[in-house]
Amino acid sequence: MRLFNAYTDYLKREFGCRVQKLSINAGFSCPNRDGKLGTGGCIYCDNKIFSPSYTDPQKSIRQQLLEGMDFHKIRYKTEKYFAYFQSFSNTYAPLEVLQQRFEEALSVEKVIGLIIGTRPDCIDEKKLDYLAELAKNHYIMVEYGIESCYDKTLKTIHRGHDFATAQKAVLMTVERNMHCGAHFIFGLPNETETEMMEMVHIINQMPIETIKFHQLQIIRETEAEQMYRKNPEIFPLFSNVEAYVDFIIRFIEQLNPDIMIDRFASEVKPELVVAPCWENLRYDQLLVIIEAELAKRKSHQGNNWKSEIYIK
Ligand code: SF4
Repeated sequence: MRLFNAYTDYLKREFGCRVQKLSINAGFSCPNRDGKLGTGGCIYCDNKIFSPSYTDPQKSIRQQLLEGMDFHKIRYKTEKYFAYFQSFSNTYAPLEVLQQRFEEALSVEKVIGLIIGTRPDCIDEKKLDYLAELAKNHYIMVEYGIESCYDKTLKTIHRGHDFATAQKAVLMTVERNMHCGAHFIFGLPNETETEMMEMVHIINQMPIETIKFHQLQIIRETEAEQMYRKNPEIFPLFSNVEAYVDFIIRFIEQLNPDIMIDRFASEVKPELVVAPCWENLRYDQLLVIIEAELAKRKSHQGNNWKSEIYIK
């Protein structure tokens, strides 16, 4: 039995097989880079690292999806796919543009749904109403980059929105009976370990369905690299795997067991990472370590969870 509530297990139960996410770059931008809010982006932003080699906005969405299917069918025998709108902010465009791009993806054979990664300040009632219509016949998940529950941190990383905006976006999404996920980063500047750990109580009060955790990695040629070189002490990075595994286990022990975990950490090519150095550890290897450590501690997700009331 799994010791955490794995999103992949839910998908297998729900759809009767593995459902593969296919990342696509649909040519969207981001208000934090195109000048609307800023041009430098979040301090850690380097979208190249989030885009697999088969994603290229010069290619049509259909072509990217077909190439993604070809790529994945070598590794996995799967007949069902989600189009994963991953790069930049995938609801940052007029509604007509969203309609054209999302419906092109859904028209591709074997694509049964969409995962739409976006910023909480790039969504509104009209866009969500449209997505809720699509959700009547397809699996539609909106995945918000929330990153931190603290406004002081969101300001330091130049995020360009506050936490209240993220809470509102989540509520507006779940009110429409859509799937809603959230993404958080541990190791952001000037956060203490206690503050990071305390976020679990705030997250438990959010009606999200899935969650992704990332450990902050300082990527070359980002603003975070400049900050890190000047003041490394302000970054509470997890210098080794053991420290992160210990933290993430204590975190998920307090996490609502109904929240499905989609990811525990990010995986970036080691040559792009300034710090911390985890010696080429692959994500599947990390997963094995986390599950073994949970078993060793005779623990599981929600072991120390106390029911908390949703924020309304
Ligand atoms: S919201 Fe995403 S794409 Fe935009 S600047 Fe931040 S990390 Fe980069």
